[in-house]
Amino acid sequence: MINFDFDYYQAENAKEAIYKYLELSEKNEENVLYYNGGTEIITYARKNKIEFSALIDIQNILECSVLKNNQKQIIIGASVSLNMIIEKNYFPLLSDSCKGIADHTTRNQITIGGNLTGKLPYKEAVLPLLVGDVELKIMTQNGIKIKKINQLFDKRLQLEPEDILLQIIVDKNVIDLPYVQIREVKQSEIDYPIMHLVALKQNDKIKASLSSLCAFPFRDKNLETIINDNKLTRREKIEQIVNNLPVPISSNYRGGKDYKEMLFRNSLNSCLDQLGSGI
Ligand SMILES: Cc1cc2nc3c(=O)[nH]c(=O)nc-3n(C[C@H](O)[C@H](O)[C@H](O)COP(=O)(O)OP(=O)(O)OC[C@H]3O[C@@H](n4cnc5c(N)ncnc54)[C@H](O)[C@@H]3O)c2cc1C
Repeated sequence: MINFDFDYYQAENAKEAIYKYLELSEKNEENVLYYNGGTEIITYARKNKIEFSALIDIQNILECSVLKNNQKQIIIGASVSLNMIIEKNYFPLLSDSCKGIADHTTRNQITIGGNLTGKLPYKEAVLPLLVGDVELKIMTQNGIKIKKINQLFDKRLQLEPEDILLQIIVDKNVIDLPYVQIREVKQSEIDYPIMHLVALKQNDKIKASLSSLCAFPFRDKNLETIINDNKLTRREKIEQIVNNLPVPISSNYRGGKDYKEMLFRNSLNSCLDQLGSGI
């Protein structure tokens, strides 16, 4: 049960949603949130971990609900569920990364937009999008802007509170590239990951992104320089990557630092085996 009162608004288009957000936040001191799949909002509200005075439902916004496989691009609306992405399988690396998130029933509700913008730090669906250099279409109070995800993602999507993520635009050049996706979990397959590595090979170069190894998901250009430096032996590459992570490996009850480092080394080895870079 949610034991506080709040107002609910159904937005029919993105402009209406953002105007409502601005109007409500001006009036109220309290929190206004966009409501997408609702899984995180409801879970947190039931546990009294968040409180809000109003929810603005964005699922009826046309741009948010499309899933299109065009000639050159795949357009994924922010309200498309993870299961729909898996079922359509337009971008196999994204489908594979989404398959590990939560259980089947919850994946019917979790949206890709919610996974990217929510509070939880895993954001596993972002990994293929980072290596795929996708673009994001965002509704801001000054109109629509389209930006590369790698310009916007730093620990989390750097959006203004009133911004709405509308769509993810994937260039079809990346969807058939060779890739590796390794998700390590503690016991059952349905659990938050201990470590999730995604790598994709384009123009003979490996691009890689990681979640759960450190405190936040990331793609790091320095690590990619090391992984693609063919003057280094396999052992040197792995050693240098482990020693040059942008932040230290984090420990939690799913895995201590040493255990996670061991899994990471094995995953890197397997990634290099499969994508064929270095000796
Ligand atoms: C049982 C369970 C298991 C999970 N397991 C995993 C896991 O294994 N790996 C993983 O990566 N994640 C996992 N998650 C996290 C989940 O992906 C996020 O909580 C995600 O936010 C849920 O999406 P939603 O559509 O339900 O978001 P909502 O609850 O609707 O919204 C979450 C937040 O995102 C904001 N938001 C949503 N969409 C937009 C948008 N388009 N534009 C701007 N802001 C927006 C909302 O305002 C809100 O603050 C799990 C969640 C649950 C409930």
